[in-house]
Amino acid sequence: MTTHATRTDDAIALAERSTAHNYHPLPVVVTEAEGAWVTDVEGRRYLDFLAAYSAVNFGHRNPEIVAAVKAQLDRVTLTSRAFHHDLLGPFARELADLAGKHLVLPMNTGAEAVETGLKVARKWGYEVKGVPADRATVIVAEGNFHGRTISVVSFSTDPVARTHFGPFTPGFEVVPYGDATAIADAIDETTVAVLVEPIQGESGVVVPPAGYLSQVRQLCDARQVLFVADEIQSGLGRTGTTFACEHEGVVPDLYLLGKALGGGVVPVSAVVGNRDVLGVIHPGEHGSTFGGNPLACAAGRAVVAMLSTGHWQRAAAELGEHLHSRLSELVGRGVVGVRGRGLWAGVDIDPALMTGREASEALIGEGILVKDTHGSTIRLAPPLVVTRDEIDLAVDALGRVLSARGA
Ligand SMILES: *Cc1c(COP(=O)(O)O)cnc(C)c1O
Repeated sequence: MTTHATRTDDAIALAERSTAHNYHPLPVVVTEAEGAWVTDVEGRRYLDFLAAYSAVNFGHRNPEIVAAVKAQLDRVTLTSRAFHHDLLGPFARELADLAGKHLVLPMNTGAEAVETGLKVARKWGYEVKGVPADRATVIVAEGNFHGRTISVVSFSTDPVARTHFGPFTPGFEVVPYGDATAIADAIDETTVAVLVEPIQGESGVVVPPAGYLSQVRQLCDARQVLFVADEIQSGLGRTGTTFACEHEGVVPDLYLLGKALGGGVVPVSAVVGNRDVLGVIHPGEHGSTFGGNPLACAAGRAVVAMLSTGHWQRAAAELGEHLHSRLSELVGRGVVGVRGRGLWAGVDIDPALMTGREASEALIGEGILVKDTHGSTIRLAPPLVVTRDEIDLAVDALGRVLSARGA
């Protein structure tokens, strides 16, 4: 028997006693972080290879973002949209320009951006396409992850996300991911949108077959359907380009953005599109008390400014090549497959060796933070400030963890 609990054990016990168990966190209690590194309550340091699911793309406490947010804290933080404030216009203009679109509809969380995109698509369907009242359908992909609200889990294919949360919102049709023919077959006169992740994050960093996104674009054009790209995790630099859709030269009708848009400081999400689509929303039809608040805009502007130089996208592309070439060395040595793009990888560990959860726990012992997605897959998504040496540290650690299991 241990005589006393560690600070880590105490902190975990209090959290477990006092929070609903909607997560099963890895046993690390973070108290500080900077750049690609976090420190736990016992002073141990870890390389963060998850980056809050890409919400910390620019590193923990990125100095430019923190400075912008601190300055804004001394001015004004919240007005609600009942009034104008002086940062909403600049933020929206700069974000729209980054995306090459006309308009921005600001929200807070990713799930809200998805809900917003669905509402916009339905309204566009009735008012522009002429879909019969209450018949609009949206085509989505198997293995999707778009958030946790009732409507969003209504078209999840993960039983854990859905069980005992019905009745579900109607109006969705699920087709296999990466199969454009299935979309072509599913489109009918009620279809208002195809909603897909250009790379499926939660599903294990699943990259669709080459040509898929451009085929979806062509189908949407030919059949008068909106292409809604959920770039909440894939966008804003992670894959080596501003948006993952760029890898196929595709421009969706609506971008759904979140996670990194708040610079790892505050929740900021947005739907970005052209006037002929986003323009269907009028006062009172949609909104959020906190959406587009001054503090969020300060963080978002700093993020957009950083992305407009191209530096971060290039860093993600270059470092991503290194990450993927190092990971490919592990294939056949405990790793059965690696997918991804830029600084983003799904690593399938040989299920005979260990689960993704066990790999994540073992990597904690090596000072590396990663997270399993499902089964024996782990996801690597370090902040874009990571260095080549730090990538080597992480991949070497994974190699040790696998060989300790006999790989
Ligand atoms: C995380 C995520 C969401 C949901 O974002 P929240 O901020 O957690 O609501 C939606 N879509 C994708 C692709 C995501 O990765």
